[in-house]
Amino acid sequence: MMRAPDFRYHAARSVKDAARALKDGGPDAMLIAGGTDLVPNLKRRQQTPALLIGIRHLRELRRIRNGKGLMIGGAVRLSEVAADRKVLRHYPALARAAGLVATPQIRNMGTLGGNLCLDTRCTYYNQSYEWRQAINFCMKAPGATGGHACATPTGDAICWVATSSPRCWAVSSTDTAPALIALGARVTLVSSDGERDIPLEELYADDGMAYLTKSADEILTVVHLPPEDAAVRSTYWKLRRRGSFDFPVLGVAAAVRFGEGNTVSDARVVLGAVASHPVLVPESAELVGRRLTDDVVEAFADAAAAHAKPMDNTDLALGWRKKVARRYVAGALRELKEAHAAK
Ligand SMILES: Cc1cc2nc3c(=O)[nH]c(=O)nc-3n(C[C@H](O)[C@H](O)[C@H](O)COP(=O)(O)OP(=O)(O)OC[C@H]3O[C@@H](n4cnc5c(N)ncnc54)[C@H](O)[C@@H]3O)c2cc1C
Ligand code: SF4
Repeated sequence: MMRAPDFRYHAARSVKDAARALKDGGPDAMLIAGGTDLVPNLKRRQQTPALLIGIRHLRELRRIRNGKGLMIGGAVRLSEVAADRKVLRHYPALARAAGLVATPQIRNMGTLGGNLCLDTRCTYYNQSYEWRQAINFCMKAPGATGGHACATPTGDAICWVATSSPRCWAVSSTDTAPALIALGARVTLVSSDGERDIPLEELYADDGMAYLTKSADEILTVVHLPPEDAAVRSTYWKLRRRGSFDFPVLGVAAAVRFGEGNTVSDARVVLGAVASHPVLVPESAELVGRRLTDDVVEAFADAAAAHAKPMDNTDLALGWRKKVARRYVAGALRELKEAHAAK
């Protein structure tokens, strides 16, 4: 049985207290919410913090409230997000994405904030310490010696996915981030130095190691959804090997606002699990002013699939996953068109 390394645990009394503890703990401290991602990582020695700061019990992070739109606390559980009446009715892409994460047990523990800050994944990384030791580790998680035990002949740390690459290509595998980005969500980040709001897409960087742009002592406290809009339709499609359990190897989130004459007045399509960050398809803006005819949908699906550049470091064949990206984008847009026509 794999055991977690020793650590101290601090049950935060408030967000302020958590922010202070995080700052005082420096690089040795980490937040823990549901622990469904972090605890397996501890056991595999991918992360070895000396101090864990628990936030899942904090009431101020566990509320779903009305504000300008809907405000969901960072420690709201995924099962609560998926079952919330307002989320189901007005933000179905999010309800579907949250409801498709892992298993019911994990959704009952895992939180929205933890899902958005989920570590990136890779076949060469999500393995036991001994497995990784046998291949001499990689640049994302060097061995316990502290140095980059895995080395090229020149002594540099290596990436086993692209051996001449200076960067890590581990994959962003969060289900809810693509859905929330498509819906135009913003997030509040709090540290002991203050608070700021950013569009969710700005939380992510295209780097398998430094995959979040926030500083280590910032806590994601609230997800803000824009006001409900009866003209917006949204959905999330997920590809994975086992439909009841697995991480996505492709996620497609789409939110479209329909205007006069069924033309598109706003559109955001986002691809998940095809890069180190969720990819907001830039051609989404070109759908504005157009109807979702078969020609428009097919041309857009071609353009969107060109942004899916899966690497050979997750499940299923990458060439096939790229082909499915095209099919899923077209399918998601057709679903939204039909949902709008049926209203
Ligand atoms: C078998 C299995 C299957 C899974 N399948 C999926 C899947 O299909 N899709 C998917 O998306 N995920 C999946 N997961 C991963 C994980 O369960 C979920 O992403 C879950 O939502 C993580 O939330 P958590 O609260 O447990 O995060 P934790 O494990 O507590 O934390 C995860 C990371 O986020 C940080 N963190 C947590 N809360 C905050 C916050 N409020 N502010 C800043 N940082 C924070 C932690 O420090 C840590 O780095 C799976 C996990 C397992 C074990
Ligand atoms: S992409 Fe490369 S560096 Fe990153 S975890 Fe995988 S093998 Fe390691």
